[in-house]
Amino acid sequence: MSLIVKKFGGSSVANAERIFNVANIIIEDYKKGNDVVVVVSAQGDTTDDLIAKAKEINPAGASKREMDMLLSAGEQISISLLAMAIEKLGCPVTSLLGWQAGFNTDSHHTIARIKKINTERLKTEISKKNIVIVAGFQGINKYDDITTLGRGGSDTSAVAIAASMKADLCQIYTDVDGVYTADPRKVKNARKLDQISYDEMLELATLGAQVLNNRSVEMAKKYNVELEVLSSLERKPGTIVKETVKMEKTLIRGAAKDNNVASISIVGLQDTPGIAFKIFNKLAQEKVNVDIILQSVGRDGTKDITFTVPQDDAETAVSAIKTLSDSLKFNKVTLDESVCKVSIVGAGMESHPGVASTMFEALYDAGINIHMISTSEIKISVLIDEKYGDAAVAAVHDAFIK
Ligand code: ASP
Ligand code: MG
Repeated sequence: MSLIVKKFGGSSVANAERIFNVANIIIEDYKKGNDVVVVVSAQGDTTDDLIAKAKEINPAGASKREMDMLLSAGEQISISLLAMAIEKLGCPVTSLLGWQAGFNTDSHHTIARIKKINTERLKTEISKKNIVIVAGFQGINKYDDITTLGRGGSDTSAVAIAASMKADLCQIYTDVDGVYTADPRKVKNARKLDQISYDEMLELATLGAQVLNNRSVEMAKKYNVELEVLSSLERKPGTIVKETVKMEKTLIRGAAKDNNVASISIVGLQDTPGIAFKIFNKLAQEKVNVDIILQSVGRDGTKDITFTVPQDDAETAVSAIKTLSDSLKFNKVTLDESVCKVSIVGAGMESHPGVASTMFEALYDAGINIHMISTSEIKISVLIDEKYGDAAVAAVHDAFIK
């Protein structure tokens, strides 16, 4: 007998038919004698719809406390409906809201962090042989106010339960059947991975391969919770996410693209100490996240600095730089939003030479010019024109994964 935590995303419980499908998956494991704790998200687009309703009332933005009160309602609907389906199929079940399941969080409304789970209620329900259905994405702070964990937070709820209950298995069900080497809708040769490490998953998740929420992967890594990402619609094994994964011959685990990138250049800066500090200190004060940074070689006493930021922060960044024009001498600032970042990820590249050159060759063969390059131990990223993004992903993917 095992303790299994299962999480189902919004599309998996979008309507009555899907809810019964999920109920059957749960009951199958329960009837084998397992204890089953289930975390669910709000149905379909419920959370987005609730956000739209709030905007109707106050376009300027309601208080975060009231947003949490509203958004937590989405999961209250899905847990009760799923519990009703399980009831109807003849199995004992209890649904619990976040606070009932013991989710204590900090007070950062709409982006709260879980501090601790009091597992007593969960344990009591399990000892009564009940299937337990828990509302994902929510908890309670020390003032007894409802909090939510940020978009996509139900994944984190599931991992937190698995960690604190020492579950034997944590399965994250979604509408795709696992993690792929590239977006299968865009790259013909993309294939499903059997396994991926936490670090690789984090890199791919940041790049927009949105199968798992980042925080949930960080938490899984911290507490060493092995995850399985699998489809609720097809009964077949998914992708295992864990600490160390056997090395593949292909060296890279996946390729992905991020369109939410803008590149900013400051041209004709003085080539003196403290310039980079002034620029990036200002951006830090404005809470702009800087990614790739490139500084040209100084010539005739001047230099250029180019860096990338998330597209949403681009205007803020440019205005911030312009306010520096008194203390910082430069010719001009340019903004280019028609760029994207294409990356390959794989723990194998750490110990293998030639990975970068294979990537650059693939781009060269495809006639794609590289503006910037950055590398980490397990990732190589290039900044290119946005219009070549999909072609670049396909080219670099196929250069490594045959
Ligand atoms: N319902 C929440 C959202 O849409 C949480 C989740 O789905 O994980 O973000
Ligand atoms: Mg999700």
